[in-house]
Amino acid sequence: MNRKYRKTIIAGNWKMNKTPSETKEFMTEFKSIMPKGRWCDVALCVPAVCIPMAVRCMRETRVGIGAENCNANASGAYTGEIAANMLVDAGCKYVIIGHSERRAMGETDADVNAKVHAALKAELMPIVCVGETLEQRDLGITEDWISMQVKCALHGVPEEKIRKIVVAYEPIWAIGTGKTATPEQAEEVCEHIRTVIRKLYGAKIARAISILYGGSMNEKNAFELLAQPDIDGGLIGGASLVPEKFVQIIEAANQPTV
Ligand code: PEP
Repeated sequence: MNRKYRKTIIAGNWKMNKTPSETKEFMTEFKSIMPKGRWCDVALCVPAVCIPMAVRCMRETRVGIGAENCNANASGAYTGEIAANMLVDAGCKYVIIGHSERRAMGETDADVNAKVHAALKAELMPIVCVGETLEQRDLGITEDWISMQVKCALHGVPEEKIRKIVVAYEPIWAIGTGKTATPEQAEEVCEHIRTVIRKLYGAKIARAISILYGGSMNEKNAFELLAQPDIDGGLIGGASLVPEKFVQIIEAANQPTV
């Protein structure tokens, strides 16, 4: 982390977990144990049906609610889909875009790019996910793959809007597997992502973008991962479903930095 130049963000991704009633239970408990005072930005990205409850419960807090996906179109004949402006109207601040679980369902880099543009237009903060498979890592093509995903996701995003974007490095082999990247492995790729952004937008912008790590981050390994200079927070799946664990990760993000 480097709080001097950029925000530290701890974001939860609930995936397809919790009902609206369970959301209320979680938020009530979470609010009662949330760290007070100076702390990092906190986001909870929840299933679409839980958004109204999450927004209502967290209204008077600094926790931002987010969605887990959005459609690239503003409106129209897209049965079952949700547009970015609908999420904003429902009270969302963030939206996860290009999660590997959605890419596995057929979402392409072009889709990711279109969704990034739609989110920015609606003034949502996109949390753009990129990450390699174990096979790609073993082939030694992690950096090339990540460069390609980042460049595709950001294609056509103007300089004045790029600061609204958060990038999450999520190695696919570490998501939901209990197999975390080592702090060194995670730092290496997060630093590479910053280099890619530097080449596209210059040093000042690259320094200001928050890059998160995601992949089995939990209350035990968060401190070490977040101590890395280019890891500005976490995108947390499993551990964000349990208030005490999520709070411990927020506390790890409140550690002093250089
Ligand atoms: C995720 O869903 O983005 C994620 C990182 O999941 P987990 O923390 O469970 O690996």
